[in-house]
Amino acid sequence: TVAVVLFTSDLRLHDHPPLRAALAAADEVVPLFVRDPGVHAAGFDAPNRVAFLSDCLVDLDTSLRRRGGRLVLRTGPVVREVAAVVTECGASEVHLAAGVTRYAQHRQEALREVLGARGVALRVHDAVITALAPGAVTPSGGDHYAVFTPYFRRWSQERLRAVLPAPRAVRVPDTVRGEPLPSRDRVPGTSPGLPPGGETRGRDRFSRWARADLPAYEARHDDLAGDATSRLSPYLHFGALSPVELVGRARAKDGPGAEAFVRQLCWRDFHHQVMCSRPETSVRDYRPRHDRWLTEDDAAEDVTAWREGRTGYPVVDAAMRQLRHEGWMHNRARLLAASFLTKTLYVDWRVGARHFLDLLVDGDVVNNQLNWQWVAGTGTDTRPNRVLNPVRQGKRFDPEGAYVRRWVPELRDVATAFVHEPWRLREDDPARPDYPGPLIDLADGLARFRHARGQD
Ligand code: FAD
Repeated sequence: TVAVVLFTSDLRLHDHPPLRAALAAADEVVPLFVRDPGVHAAGFDAPNRVAFLSDCLVDLDTSLRRRGGRLVLRTGPVVREVAAVVTECGASEVHLAAGVTRYAQHRQEALREVLGARGVALRVHDAVITALAPGAVTPSGGDHYAVFTPYFRRWSQERLRAVLPAPRAVRVPDTVRGEPLPSRDRVPGTSPGLPPGGETRGRDRFSRWARADLPAYEARHDDLAGDATSRLSPYLHFGALSPVELVGRARAKDGPGAEAFVRQLCWRDFHHQVMCSRPETSVRDYRPRHDRWLTEDDAAEDVTAWREGRTGYPVVDAAMRQLRHEGWMHNRARLLAASFLTKTLYVDWRVGARHFLDLLVDGDVVNNQLNWQWVAGTGTDTRPNRVLNPVRQGKRFDPEGAYVRRWVPELRDVATAFVHEPWRLREDDPARPDYPGPLIDLADGLARFRHARGQD
């Protein structure tokens, strides 16, 4: 007997329930990944993620070959390709991790229909992409939690499923043809500081980080210059690491650092259970507030300055330049940059979310769109009218200005007292840098915000 495992956002061999179940049920297994042109048509194949994905596929193939197997890569509409592979190898079942986005939910339904008509079973596995399946815990009278803290409390009481070891051997039928694997080097337009992808790198990174930095994570996770967070987000996005395994390994370490890290992983699950119940929130407001957002056309110059890191607010500019250079941004910087666009410039969150998705290597419809909404006050934030002041936040989370100096070389020689407010240097001061003045006065921004929210 033969089973197909359709890999999607779960590009790993360790702790992979669909693969384990397929191996238990069949003599031979086809590990399949499909490059669906629909992803390209939707504009989601940003170069940074395509390059990272290539690394993940090559690493998965290498690990499978070590076990006697290989990864089968195909290009085409996903349902058509799965059906073709099923026919080529005579498979009787297809295994897949449950997904939450609109695209993933449609894919699941279409596969069920097409395979069902051929008498092939589709087995969908929960808790592969998230630690706890969306809907595993619900508030009374609802199908998802709308507020994080009660969700976290409830989530923390749940027992996660057992972590599964990587398989020792995988036999793939010879009858199935695959395409040559892509190479990261052939992807144009990637960020120069892009990290390497793949399960092997991800596991190494977690082990090293957990030893060195996890214990101090609670104290240091907001320190912009310290850069002490795990940077595991792209590995989690592509499923090169298992959230169930990470939660288990962090909990085994105990202490406030581990607790705070597990809490962040829970944020991921939280957003997934919101998106699973409300997939339209990838584009629509979770809580519409009748905002009069400025469109990209209304605020073209502001948006360009924001994208290019030329707003005149050093910490915002540092954040936006880090994004372009690394395809990644520190969480505190994401909060500041997003707050500045949506609540100071009052530009529609979708404009910012799109730019992030164009560059972020961890760019994720679930985490990106719902975090943007959280910041914009149209999502699950319980304080939707909070505005982050980039000067105060800069002084608090980058007190020496080291993060700003790292990413905004124009400010490298400015004294710490002025590094977050270079406009306070006198016009004739020789230390005054060649750096733009503030794009908008913060008081004007606040007035714009209050007016648009109907608070004045
Ligand atoms: P750590 O601090 O080490 O946290 C560990 C893991 O927990 C992360 O890798 C991530 O998987 C998860 N996590 C942490 N914070 C959050 C959060 N707020 N929401 C969901 N998961 C979280 N994260 C993405 O993975 N993809 C995105 O596209 C994305 N877009 C964002 C956009 C905005 C405007 C904001 C404010 C946040 C966004 N985040 C996104 C969440 C968060 O900023 C990143 O997950 C985090 O910075 C990644 O760095 P890290 O791996 O070092 O995180």
